[in-house]
Amino acid sequence: MAEREHEHVRVAVIGSGFGGLGAAVRLRRQGITDFVVLERAGSVGGTWRDNSYPGCACDVPSHLYSFSFAPNPEWPRNFSGQPHIRAYLERVTDTFGLRPHIRFDSEVRSLRWNGEELHWEVETARGALTADVVVSATGPLSDPKVPDVPGLDSFPGKVFHSARWDHDYDLRGKRIAMIGTGASAIQIVPAVQPTVDRLTLFQRTPAWVLPRADRRISGLERWLHTRVPATRVARRGLLWGIREMQVSAFTKRPNELGLIEGLAKGHMKRAVKDPALRAKLTPDYRIGCKRILLSNSYYPALTQPNVDVVASGLKEVRGNVLVAADGTETEADAIVFGTGFHVTDMPIAHRVTGANGTTLAEEWKDGMESLRGASAAGFPNFLTIIGPNTGLGNSSMILMIESQLNYLVDYMRQLDVLGGKIALNARPSAVHAWTRGIQRRMERTVWTTGGCDSWYLDANGRNTTAWPGTTAEFRKLTREVDLAEYEVLRVPASRTGARAGQAAKAVA
Ligand code: NAP
Repeated sequence: MAEREHEHVRVAVIGSGFGGLGAAVRLRRQGITDFVVLERAGSVGGTWRDNSYPGCACDVPSHLYSFSFAPNPEWPRNFSGQPHIRAYLERVTDTFGLRPHIRFDSEVRSLRWNGEELHWEVETARGALTADVVVSATGPLSDPKVPDVPGLDSFPGKVFHSARWDHDYDLRGKRIAMIGTGASAIQIVPAVQPTVDRLTLFQRTPAWVLPRADRRISGLERWLHTRVPATRVARRGLLWGIREMQVSAFTKRPNELGLIEGLAKGHMKRAVKDPALRAKLTPDYRIGCKRILLSNSYYPALTQPNVDVVASGLKEVRGNVLVAADGTETEADAIVFGTGFHVTDMPIAHRVTGANGTTLAEEWKDGMESLRGASAAGFPNFLTIIGPNTGLGNSSMILMIESQLNYLVDYMRQLDVLGGKIALNARPSAVHAWTRGIQRRMERTVWTTGGCDSWYLDANGRNTTAWPGTTAEFRKLTREVDLAEYEVLRVPASRTGARAGQAAKAVA
């Protein structure tokens, strides 16, 4: 039963992870209170709510992986665990008075642009509404990807994805098959290895792993960060500055990263004494081409007697037997897929129909592209947070999110300044120019030249996810909306407030 039919809001935000909550805070600060946050689940947190697997933690230091406007002097560790990050987001929700805006269990089923009324028609699991502006903050790591493995249906045991961990399933004494060697899997392996009977890791591609400089943040440090905020700001600044200095190696001089490979090999050698296992675990591509992983416990776990590393991908399942691409057969009681997310083929894109009657997924069939990571041509007043080419290989995504929130706030300001019932539609020429510039820079990056396949690349091999620059550069480029990059759509003054008419187009 549609609950709030014919409701109209100024802004509908989709998702209540870092992006959606951040948008809500910034809208309120801008004096905009006529907005809703549509959340498909029953609580906030996004990927930090959904990923609750054993060992889940962030590998970006917490003092950087948090909002600048919501500092937390009490972070317990350099790299805080998922429960602390989720609790932080719950606190942000309360501190900034966001709860009244949030509609839980309200999965967005479709979004359709109404070019006559210049608004979005939004269908959710709990009813319909319309909105002048939509902010899509669904995030790239929200929809789990499970490979289409022949015979998987025949598996009699338990199957789940790392981002949908089944906490009711007791792993003790079981034979577990872990599929994948990404950031999720390498945290799961050491966390579950002591409890399971056997752990078989299906490694299609080995990862580069560096030591994790994790430690408890002392009481004195926390006291200082609370009483002398400058110490907290300095800590964040240092964490940020170090990562900014690394960017050019990733984006312009990948050969410099070769030095880091030595560190990673030394890290492996200290933990893995068996040369045959080391050979299996040694990558053959440039470090940084895939996300660099941080762990002190992954390699030691792999040397334990109850662990097998199959240096091959999972190809087929025959009953309770898992067959790797190299023919290795393994019996298992449960399969855990640490196989990542639909990043370059975001499911939300299939649900958004723009001004031309095509979906965002259709528009993006040859690759995602948006102006300044936010606006796609033909999708007026629709802004994506963590849109195309806004991802980072080495620093905090919260920095990028906050840049995009600056852009959102300026976008709302520009709409107000222009006045009346209007919408902004990114000019195709501006979108293409932005994308061309990024793709040109992409040619030199480690993600292109490093000799690996990664989730940064789409089905056509184009990198439509990563940002090939510093966070400071992105901040500068998203400080303000350049109206020359947009077409302004207006409902003629004579018709506003009257019956719906054809939207006239006026060029800004
Ligand atoms: P991911 O990085 O996309 O890794 C997926 C893994 O599954 C890859 O190792 C992939 O192998 C493997 N795979 C896919 N199909 C397979 C098959 N049939 N057989 C064997 N292996 C297969 O996913 P993720 O680990 O969930 O991480 C995604 C992103 O989430 C990370 O890059 C990071 O941005 C974020 N994350 C961060 C943290 C953290 O902060 N510590 C933790 C978790 C996730 P190939 O390499 O051969 O493709």
